[in-house]
Amino acid sequence: MKKDFEKILSILTCPKCKGELRLIETWFICYQCKLKYPIKKGIPILLIEEAHRLQPDER
Ligand SMILES: [Zn+2]
Repeated sequence: MKKDFEKILSILTCPKCKGELRLIETWFICYQCKLKYPIKKGIPILLIEEAHRLQPDER
């Protein structure tokens, strides 16, 4: 499943800043906005309302 996400990662962008996303475990992370978007049941939820704030120790 991770392989599939790596394929689509190049076409996914952060809904807030349209920037690049990184795939870390079960999150798509935007380091510019310091937000992380969950992957629920195999579906990336790229909604600002669903995003979590990155903790300062996460990178
Ligand atoms: Zn962003």
